[in-house]
Amino acid sequence: MRIRLAERDGYRDEDGTYRVLCCLCRQPIDMRLPGNVPAGPTIEHHRAFIDGGTNDADNLGLAHSACNKSRGRRAPTTLGPTSRKWL
Ligand SMILES: [Zn+2]
Repeated sequence: MRIRLAERDGYRDEDGTYRVLCCLCRQPIDMRLPGNVPAGPTIEHHRAFIDGGTNDADNLGLAHSACNKSRGRRAPTTLGPTSRKWL
């Protein structure tokens, strides 16, 4: 699923690095990183399972691991840009 979302939402940077904009902070995600580091990619559910969200692609996006964790169950519109530059 992560690859399908990256293909849908990604672009190639000027140095050839494949990146996707984080659906929460709108900063680029380096897709070479693992998902267990703060700047790494994770799958974000726009509407959480517990609130009736699904695994349909329309409900999913890629987000930095740190952004995903800091969001928790809040609606994505309650977040602004991250306070740190990850890349
Ligand atoms: Zn982010």
